[in-house]
Amino acid sequence: MLSKRDFFKAAGLTVASRVAAEAFQPKDGERKVIVVTFGGGVRYAETFSPEGLANIPRLAALKPRGHFYRDCRNLGVLSHFNSTASIVTGNWQRVDDFGFEAPASPTVFEAFREQRAASAMDAWAICTNKSFSSIGSAGTPGANVVLPKQLLIEAVKDVVRRAEGMGVADRDNVQRRLESILQEGYEGVGWTIFKAGRKLDRHVQRTLTHALMEYINGPEAPTSGDELTFFIAREVMREFSPRLLLVNFWDMDVAHWGSYSLYLQAITRTDRLVGMLWDEIEQNPRYKGRTTVLVLPELGRDGDQNAANGFLNHRSGDASCRNMWLLALGAGAAAGETERPVAHVDVAATAAGLLGVKWTSQGKALKEIA
Ligand SMILES: [Zn+2]
Repeated sequence: MLSKRDFFKAAGLTVASRVAAEAFQPKDGERKVIVVTFGGGVRYAETFSPEGLANIPRLAALKPRGHFYRDCRNLGVLSHFNSTASIVTGNWQRVDDFGFEAPASPTVFEAFREQRAASAMDAWAICTNKSFSSIGSAGTPGANVVLPKQLLIEAVKDVVRRAEGMGVADRDNVQRRLESILQEGYEGVGWTIFKAGRKLDRHVQRTLTHALMEYINGPEAPTSGDELTFFIAREVMREFSPRLLLVNFWDMDVAHWGSYSLYLQAITRTDRLVGMLWDEIEQNPRYKGRTTVLVLPELGRDGDQNAANGFLNHRSGDASCRNMWLLALGAGAAAGETERPVAHVDVAATAAGLLGVKWTSQGKALKEIA
């Protein structure tokens, strides 16, 4: 078996790709914004309530350093795509629940790209939710969207479907299929990358293949969709340093299957991953000191008084579904707490303000974050 280093050498994935990236780095010193959906739907009860804090040790420890909005409301449609689309557009969305339509109004990614002359590598969305392939744009160039888990599933499915003798256990097979999927451009299956020139497109393909293969090879091999999402997001940060990034975690939606313990495990794992994302920001000179991170659940889940649903679903529309929190960390987020109700649609306006983008939407910029 190849060692990890040999593997990357054979695949041509080491020095060459890092050098190529240098040419595409954005200017230093500019503000960066990372929106993290602590996602899949999680209740206050299992997070920032007194009894929930034990599930989120990293966020609980980070909270005193950041600005905490106690009352951040999702007043829109309580589905995953609409909730996250409302976050990135600043307007309550009511489109197809399963992501078959693009958001109905422009995303902050598009306004950023257009107004700030941001490159195709400056806006990304890395998502665990498989229905998010159109979350990055309402129609004009917006965020590159990567659904890492879907890419890997497609590659494995392809290997299984193909000729005999090509086992899934054979990593080369999986890698070959991944490469061809990325080359053929299966938009909607697992990624949508805006054209950035041949050299860079090839570099993006290599970066994604490389990072996805680490899923199979590396000592850090992730074991869940959200871990893979974190891993790819970190790789994209290291390679392309985007100024605007959405990281969508989603594993805690496992709650729909009815296991409270799996739901709690997913919450604690996401908490750990958000902590690791923060650690990366602190250690990465292109992010440290100039990055504002906005962490919020895209929706809650039904309250326990709702006997038919409880933590399983998120459709009752009760306070447990709608009333969430938002934690702002990093640049411009002075330590403190705000009681005033804010809303999910305020996130896009806030990000726009931080990035110097002119913006109008139903949501307004959070004035505590500068
Ligand atoms: Zn759900």
